[in-house]
Amino acid sequence: MNNLTSPDRSQVAGALFGVAVGDALGVPVEFLDRQYLDRNPVTGMQGYGTWNQPPGTWSDDSSMTFCLAEELSRTSPDPDHLGSLFLRWYRDAWWTAHDQVFDIGGTTREALHRLEQGISAISSGPSGERQNGNGALMRILPLVFHLADDPDETERWQITCRTAGITHGHIRSHLACHIYLEMARQILEGHSLMNAYIRICHTIPNFCSTAGIPIDECDHYSRMLDGNLQSGDRDDIRGSGYVVQSLEAALWCLLATSSYADAVLMAVNLGEDTDTTAAVCGGLAGLHYGVDSIPTAWRKNLAKANQIEELSRRLQHRYDTTG
Ligand SMILES: [Mg+2]
Repeated sequence: MNNLTSPDRSQVAGALFGVAVGDALGVPVEFLDRQYLDRNPVTGMQGYGTWNQPPGTWSDDSSMTFCLAEELSRTSPDPDHLGSLFLRWYRDAWWTAHDQVFDIGGTTREALHRLEQGISAISSGPSGERQNGNGALMRILPLVFHLADDPDETERWQITCRTAGITHGHIRSHLACHIYLEMARQILEGHSLMNAYIRICHTIPNFCSTAGIPIDECDHYSRMLDGNLQSGDRDDIRGSGYVVQSLEAALWCLLATSSYADAVLMAVNLGEDTDTTAAVCGGLAGLHYGVDSIPTAWRKNLAKANQIEELSRRLQHRYDTTG
């Protein structure tokens, strides 16, 4: 078992590169449907397509993940300050692959406009039921390094809600982020993917009932957390932009494969919101298998690979209590 308080370099870099490589694999085929991808599957890093970007180009998923990693590398997460970093990305193209923002979700855009109008980051995220896209889920992974050694699940939940809520105010999005981060926390602790999954299948429903989360909200995740997701049929899995389906698809790909490459390619080839499904899946896969398991050609040819490496080092240093 690893020391919870000290994620190693392979885990931190694995998480950040894991998100970005998955994202970049999905960018050229974003919005394409499964029937097309079944005939023309993605098998490696390619470019152009949907956004006409060169190979190795990651999108908003990674940009916002890196904003959170930057925040955590300096301090404890503060919603208003983190919101200002998101605005720096949106307005000044900070932490973009090629100094240009080419992909942003509707709810995130609305939230960032609200922040600009002076609304506090505590309430900037739109909270309508239809505003449950995967835009908070896709950027939340670095928070696991902050939450790792916090033994209080209620406190972890509250910090997750505040961090997710900057752009997504509905409890369903918060619960998706919580499930994802709890899975990541189990992985960080050294559990196998299957054991990590089985453990959250027990802990999350218990937490939902003790924390007073409305039962109908918990119910959206009952199939995902029934302990049998790995045997689910591909026809029942959708890589859509809806946060529940997005998380379920990412976990399913993770549990159905045994390498980083297989997991993210399976995620991309589900179709629809390909970059985000693969980013969400790839983050956990990178955390579990480690950065060196990510094919070198994919990692080295990623836009701003050196800066991502350097950010990983700073983030790891922040949580390194061993020396
Ligand atoms: Mg994207």
